[in-house]
Amino acid sequence: MTRYHRALVAAILVTTALALVHGQGPKAPNVYYFQGATLITGAGEPIRDGALLVESGSVSRVGTRASIPAPAGATVVDLRGKTVIPALVDAHSHLGYTDVRTGDTASSHYTRDNLIDHLRRYAYYGIAATWSLGLDRGELPYELRAGPVDGAALFFTAGRGLAMPSAGPNAQYWRDAAYGVTTEAEARQAVRELAAKKVDIVKIWVDDRNKTVTPLPPSLYRPIIEEAHTRGLRVVAHVYYLADAKELLRAGVDGFAHGIRDLEVDDQIMGLFKARPHVFVIPNLPDTPPSGADLVWLSETLPPTQIEALKRTAATTPVRPRLFEVQARSLKKLAAAGVPIAFGTDAGVGAPYGWSAHAEMADMVAAGMTPAQVITAATRTSSEVMKLDRLGTIAPGKSADFVVLDADPLDNIMNTRRIAKVYLRGREIDRASLSRNWTGR
Ligand SMILES: [Zn+2]
Repeated sequence: MTRYHRALVAAILVTTALALVHGQGPKAPNVYYFQGATLITGAGEPIRDGALLVESGSVSRVGTRASIPAPAGATVVDLRGKTVIPALVDAHSHLGYTDVRTGDTASSHYTRDNLIDHLRRYAYYGIAATWSLGLDRGELPYELRAGPVDGAALFFTAGRGLAMPSAGPNAQYWRDAAYGVTTEAEARQAVRELAAKKVDIVKIWVDDRNKTVTPLPPSLYRPIIEEAHTRGLRVVAHVYYLADAKELLRAGVDGFAHGIRDLEVDDQIMGLFKARPHVFVIPNLPDTPPSGADLVWLSETLPPTQIEALKRTAATTPVRPRLFEVQARSLKKLAAAGVPIAFGTDAGVGAPYGWSAHAEMADMVAAGMTPAQVITAATRTSSEVMKLDRLGTIAPGKSADFVVLDADPLDNIMNTRRIAKVYLRGREIDRASLSRNWTGR
């Protein structure tokens, strides 16, 4: 048992003891009754004038206010006029490398404190959990996964992803975090090391980065996939070209961390998806940098110098990024065909943490998915893909992870940005004090 675990156990014992003492009084300390909101549960039609009962961090009952009375002693939270959605789940991130206060990126920033800072930013913006896809270092990611931090998103990891040497992630500061493999023996050995760490998924890069590097060839990714499957692990691929995506599907890949960017999906690949219905796609549409009202929103979590830097970026960036249209058309087709559409931001590559999840949801609607489909992707499907059975919907037995909004996102997906409160594992995130810490205001 680590020092952290001992501290955690001690904290739980104290909390439990206090709960027992208080339980003798009129208040039931761990029972919360949220009343009056529209509940978008993800487990059925939205419930108007809803009631949500949370006990000891878990959802125990969900229904209309008329059908579920407030239990004696429960703390009643009035949410009339609000809309509740399940907390978001980001299946593609690269946290830890940016000092958000200065915008500086470096491998030296990859520390426990900085990772936790980023996971708190996720919590602030309503994200409950994330998959860190392939750029993690040392023991830190596994320690963080084993010991979740109060008030922060849950962290899951692919550990070190695999590519040809220096042919994985683009930026220099994290290029060495990935395995560089050139032989089948090296590739299989890397997967065995990852399996020993019990990674949540294996990440590979199959991309020539605009003909500047050698992409991982089928002669290497086939044995990687085979070795991973033998050890009960799935493989998710960074991909760019349609031809590579087809070959990866034939090789048994389990998911794509990006959309296909050179060509629109064709009948042949749709057939390959149909034959392997569990294969998921994390669309990861290209971002438009924040501007206008979003910069006001972001000023809750970023210092003024960073807001100014974002303004300069927005002024020099086209409104719709290159490669948006082709990916949007493909996404619409894939969603219509029933391919599992998960959700990811690629956070760590530019756009502000947390904000980028809300931008991605709006982009997915712009691509032709409905707001309801997008919320499902960002909550239920992402949780299913990540095998997080306590997240993704608001239903009895689930962890009480949800976002309270001032307006209904089914009317306008931009309303996901109107966050009133965030609850993770049954506890409200203290957004006001986080904001004060980050902005000094
Ligand atoms: Zn990525």
